[in-house]
Amino acid sequence: MENVESLLDELRCGILLSDIHKSGEPYKTAAELPISGVVKYWGQSYVPGGPVRVSITANYARGDIAVRIELACEFHVPCSRCLEETMLAINGDMRYLFTTRRSRREDDECAGEEEDGYIEAIEIDKFQAELDLTPYVWETIILSLPEKVLCREDCKGLCPVCGGRKNVNECGCITDAADPRLEVLKNLL
Ligand SMILES: [Zn+2]
Ligand SMILES: [Zn+2]
Repeated sequence: MENVESLLDELRCGILLSDIHKSGEPYKTAAELPISGVVKYWGQSYVPGGPVRVSITANYARGDIAVRIELACEFHVPCSRCLEETMLAINGDMRYLFTTRRSRREDDECAGEEEDGYIEAIEIDKFQAELDLTPYVWETIILSLPEKVLCREDCKGLCPVCGGRKNVNECGCITDAADPRLEVLKNLL
C-alpha cells in the first residue's frame, strides 16, 4: 500500500480451512497478535501500545469463504496539531470474500447474494491448507487509522510565533499578520 512503511514482522494471522465447518456454521476464533516496531502512514509514526486483539468469523457458502475481521489496538502517536503524544485506540471491522472457484463471473448467480460491505471475491487455491489472513489484518489496521490524530477535539495546537502549546497556556502572541487592521498598527509603530 502506498505511503505505508511497516516494521511489524511479527504480525501473523491464519486459519486452517479444515477448521471452518462446512455445515455453514460460522467458525470463530480470537487471538492476540504481538506487534512491535513502528507503522509509518502519511508521515505519521504509529508506535503500537500492545498486541492487536483480533477476532475472526469465517463460514463457507458454496465455494466461497466469508471472513469477517474485527480488531482493536492502540498506538502512541503525536497529535497532528500540538505534537503531544497521544494514545489512539482503533477498532477495525472488515469483511472479505474468498473463493475457491475459478473465474467467478460478475453475473454469477451468487454475486447478487453478497451482503453489503463484502468486497470482490479473492481467489484462493482450494487445495491450500491454510488461509493466510495476515495481509487482510494488516489492511484492516491501516484502513482504521484516522487521517488526522488529535489529542482532543478542540486541540489549539502550537503557537506559530513562540512555539508554545496553546492548550497549556495562551501566550497572547499576535499570529494573524495578514489582518489589515494589525498591519495599520504595525505601520504606526
Ligand atoms: Zn493536540
Ligand atoms: Zn505564542
